[in-house]
Amino acid sequence: MFNALIVEKDEDGKTSASVQQIGIDQLPDGGDVTVAVEYSTVNYKDGLCIGPGGGLVRNYPHIPGIDLAGTVEASDDDRYKPGDKVVLTGWRVGEAHWGGYSQKARVKADWLVPLPAGLNTRQAMAVGTAGFTAMLAVMALEDHGLEKDHGPVLVTGAAGGVGSVATAILANLGYEVAGVTGRPETAEYLKSLGATQIVAREELNETVKRPLEGETWAGCIDAVGGAMLARVLGQMKYGTSVAAVGLAGGTGLPATVIPFLLRGVNLLGIDSVMQPYDNRVRAWQRIAKDLPMEKLEQMIQPAKLSDLPKLGADILKGQVKGRVVVDVN
Ligand code: NDP
Repeated sequence: MFNALIVEKDEDGKTSASVQQIGIDQLPDGGDVTVAVEYSTVNYKDGLCIGPGGGLVRNYPHIPGIDLAGTVEASDDDRYKPGDKVVLTGWRVGEAHWGGYSQKARVKADWLVPLPAGLNTRQAMAVGTAGFTAMLAVMALEDHGLEKDHGPVLVTGAAGGVGSVATAILANLGYEVAGVTGRPETAEYLKSLGATQIVAREELNETVKRPLEGETWAGCIDAVGGAMLARVLGQMKYGTSVAAVGLAGGTGLPATVIPFLLRGVNLLGIDSVMQPYDNRVRAWQRIAKDLPMEKLEQMIQPAKLSDLPKLGADILKGQVKGRVVVDVN
């Protein structure tokens, strides 16, 4: 028997989450690798899956946790053997499949990535989907021509998970970073991660009035979407790119096409869930190289399985700072 966070749904459609003991035979069929999970984490999506489901979870009871890191215990696949350290993010694990809020998980070998050299399982989960996605966004901006001497790079939702890791990676690579936050009390934290400019959320969350404003940003990693993304598009320098990562501020995009037509601005979509294996490996290697571990350490808020119902609600309210690391044991 082992511990897992189980989410159940009652007859009225209300969900509740609690730590329960289950047996290995209760893990779903279909996986070919059993992982002894060491750490997981809390992303925005986990907040939805621990709580109301957000249309992501179809079947209950459910074990959320979109990320996990641990040691292979048993494997029917030649690529993995007992004792291997592995990381899993995405592939709808923790949504459509049982996830990482459990001391054991049964998953497909195709979903796993070997733990990158230079990271332990705790650090890998401090990165998690949020940090992995931040790295994908940095890579996309670089692939579209971002260079250090082009000017400041804007990070929205900066004190959140994606934003914190994006800030630390960009600053470490030598970019000038401006962080947008709605929590002025996080300014010192953001500066410690390497942001040199703090932009108040109120300055950017008003709806677009003029389709073009002053050319300010050489790049942007946007975790917020909505009105803020629309405003930022009109403030981009000529020929630059915005990596659209998140929707913490809304799914709409009340923008005009003018920044695309008159300034050649690019809007780059970033998806972490279905990212192909080779690019996953490339991103994890870049994380091990370009994310300073002492800055990652500053972002960590430690937690246990029993803390998850509260943390899930907190992240949906935008109240989690940095990255939660869940020690499932
Ligand atoms: P967090 O909750 O940790 O961070 C989101 C941050 O956005 C908050 O900390 C807050 O930052 C800011 N924010 C929250 N609400 C609002 C609002 N109404 N208006 C403006 N800013 C707001 O979540 P994550 O970092 O884990 O995820 C960020 C987003 O990225 C989510 O929407 C998530 O679903 C998405 N995502 C997408 C992925 C992909 O594959 N495309 C992968 C991972 C995440 P502050 O307090 O500094 O203002």
